[in-house]
Amino acid sequence: MAEKSCNGLTSADGGAWVVDISTEAKLTINPIRAIVDALKVEPNPDKEVIRLSIGDPTAYGNLPPSKLVSSAVAEEVENGQSNGYCLSFGSKAACSAVAEYYSTPEAPLTCSDVVLASGCSGALSMAINVLTNPGDNILIPCPGFSLYRCLASARQVEARSYRLIPEKSWEIDLDNMESLIDENTKAIVVNNPSNPCGSVYTLQHLKDIAAVAYRRRVPIISDEVYAGMAFHGTKFHSMAQVAPNQPILTCGGLAKKYLVPGWRLGWVFVHDQHHVLDLVREGLRKLSTQILGPCSLIQAALPAIIRETPQEFFDNTIRHCEEAAGIAFGLLSEVPSLTPVMPSGAMYMMIGIKTDMLVDIDNDIQFTEKLMAEESVFCLPAQCFQYPDFFRIVLCVPMPMMSVACSRISEFCHRHQRQTITNGTH
Ligand SMILES: *Cc1c(COP(=O)(O)O)cnc(C)c1O
Repeated sequence: MAEKSCNGLTSADGGAWVVDISTEAKLTINPIRAIVDALKVEPNPDKEVIRLSIGDPTAYGNLPPSKLVSSAVAEEVENGQSNGYCLSFGSKAACSAVAEYYSTPEAPLTCSDVVLASGCSGALSMAINVLTNPGDNILIPCPGFSLYRCLASARQVEARSYRLIPEKSWEIDLDNMESLIDENTKAIVVNNPSNPCGSVYTLQHLKDIAAVAYRRRVPIISDEVYAGMAFHGTKFHSMAQVAPNQPILTCGGLAKKYLVPGWRLGWVFVHDQHHVLDLVREGLRKLSTQILGPCSLIQAALPAIIRETPQEFFDNTIRHCEEAAGIAFGLLSEVPSLTPVMPSGAMYMMIGIKTDMLVDIDNDIQFTEKLMAEESVFCLPAQCFQYPDFFRIVLCVPMPMMSVACSRISEFCHRHQRQTITNGTH
C-alpha cells in the first residue's frame, strides 16, 4: 500500500509535496515584531490601557489629516481620471510638484530627480537595493529605525550599527561611524529628525557627517520622513542642502508630516550635482518597474496636497508633540531611576532606565512588561531599536492621556525603587 505523507499525498503520487521559501523571505525579520510578539502584555484589569507605543500618528484619533488633503483625494476618486497606471517612477505632475516643493537654492531638484515609491519604506528599500549586492555593507544608526537592518539582511547585506550619543542629544559618534567603513561599504544611512530619538541635527553636525562620507567616498541615504518636524527654537536642515557637492539619496514621504501613513506615498530624491549617481538614477527607475509605482489616486492628488496644505497644519502637529514632550520630560525627569532625553523634533522620546536602582527589573523588556501588568501603560522597549535599557514613548497621544501615563510610570518606578542602604555603624 502506498504510504501517505503528512499532507495526504501518497508515495504513488510521487510523495510529499514540499514547498520551501526563498532565502530573502527567510532572512526578512523585523525585530520590532519579533520582540513585541514575544512580550507578556496582559494589562492590569483595573486600569484603562494607555499605549504609548504606536508609531502611527492616526492611532489616537486626535491628529486627523488636513481636510484639504482628504478632499483632494476624494475629488480624484470622483472624477474618474486616475484609475489607470502612471509611469512606474511616478507621474510627471506628481514628481514635478514634489521636486518644486523640496527644491532649495543649494540643492535644486527637477522632476527627473524624483522617483515615487510605496511609502518612505518603499523608498528606503529602493535606495538600499540600488546600491548594494550580497556581501556589501551599509552603516545604520543605533538606536535606529528597525527597517534599515530588516531590508539589508533580507538581501544579505550586512547592517553595521554606528553609535549615537544620548548625552549629546543623540549626535553621531563620528569616529565610531568612520571606523566601520571599508571597501564594501555602499551607503551610510542617516535619519534626521530621528525615530526613535526625536533628535534634530545641527547644521554643523550635518556638515561633519557629510565630511566623513565625502572623504571616504560613500553615498548618504538620508531618511527625512520627519523633514521640517522640528520644535520651537530648532531648525531642520536637509542633508542635501548642507552637502550639495556630494551624492545623496533623500527618502521621504507623506506618512508622518501629513498624518496619512496608510496612503503609502513616498519618494527618493537623487541629489547629484557632479554626475556620480547617473547609473543609480537609471537603476532606481528600473527598480520602480517592479511594482509600477504607488497608488495613482494619491499621485494625482499629490500636487494639491503638497502645494495647498497650510503651514498651520504642520505647526499644529509640532506644537502638540512639543507640548507632550514637555509634559513627559517634566514628570519623568523627577524620577530618580529614569533619564529621559528631551527631543527636539519628530514624534518620539527615549527614556533611559537605571536598572541598578530598581528591584526585580533587569532590563527594558522586563520594565515594559511589568509596567503594562501593573499600570496598563505600554511602551516599546528600545531593544526594538537595538538599544537595551531605554524605552520609547510616542508623543502623538492626547495630552490628558500623556499626563496620566507619565504619572503611572512615575508611581511604578517609585514602587520598584531599591531602598538605599545607609552606611550607618552598628
Ligand atoms: C515611519 C517611518 C518610515 C516609514 O514611512 P512610510 O512612509 O510609512 O513607509 C521611515 N523611516 C522612519 C524613520 C520612520 O519613522
